Amino acid sequence: MTEFRTRFAPSPTGYLHLGHAASAFYVWDAARAAGGEVRLRIEDIDRTRCRPEYETAILEDLKWLGCDWTGPVRRQSEHFDDYARVLDQLQARGLLYRCFRTRREIAAALPAGADPDEAGFTGRPLPEAEEARRLERGLPFAWRLSLAAARDALGPRYGQLSYTEETPSGPRAVRADPARFGDVVLARKETPASYHLACCHDDALQGITQVIRGEDIRDMTAVHVLLQALMDWPVPVYRFHPLVLGPDGKKLSKRAGDRGLRAYREEGMTPDDLRRLAGLA
Ligand code: GLU
Repeated sequence: MTEFRTRFAPSPTGYLHLGHAASAFYVWDAARAAGGEVRLRIEDIDRTRCRPEYETAILEDLKWLGCDWTGPVRRQSEHFDDYARVLDQLQARGLLYRCFRTRREIAAALPAGADPDEAGFTGRPLPEAEEARRLERGLPFAWRLSLAAARDALGPRYGQLSYTEETPSGPRAVRADPARFGDVVLARKETPASYHLACCHDDALQGITQVIRGEDIRDMTAVHVLLQALMDWPVPVYRFHPLVLGPDGKKLSKRAGDRGLRAYREEGMTPDDLRRLAGLA
């Protein structure tokens, strides 16, 4: 059995840019160094933003970079039933509630500029009759994970949530404090499973022992560790790599139209040139 299994998990919402190439290099370099393997997962839960042509381009770009994966590609949009089952289990255990507040309502209740998804919103279920009225009116809602219920369910384990982070100077134990994220959204009508839910489910299902991802999502790991504890999923070892920044000092982004890898390719650049450009060589 392979002891080191990591994954690359892009979302096909645009073409891969230099930041993704860097991320892929970090993932594959680590796997090669450890004699491990890499799984490829297409995180295409958000059907409004993902497109099949981007997925095709991702596969092509990875091959060009020399990044080869083992096993079948897991496409999350083909597994909504898996995520629904997890939601059912969490709901049956009283860990979820329906939240009818819109993002705008939540933002209005928070300090100006706070991101409603990250500012630690906590709520509680509505009285049954009120909830039934809103459901009857077809009002949209989000399934939120109740931090209070999770704390009760885990008891003393809640205060001991932690994970191992692999750093350049060796492994270190990190305490995970999911409280600052509040009651995270695990599903909405238009996205039947959140990134957190689908990602943690799949890491467990695919037997991922090492998660290597950008340092911009380091903090979110606390939420993942909470889900893993609630679902009895194993906690992989985490490693966070630096981001490639654009000339404006901001991280590269598909939305901001940062150059796709194919533009570099068409100019005659090689994967090694990209490695240098991304600061890895
Ligand atoms: N789909 C996420 C992304 O593209 C993956 C993040 C992760 O590695 O979990 O940023």
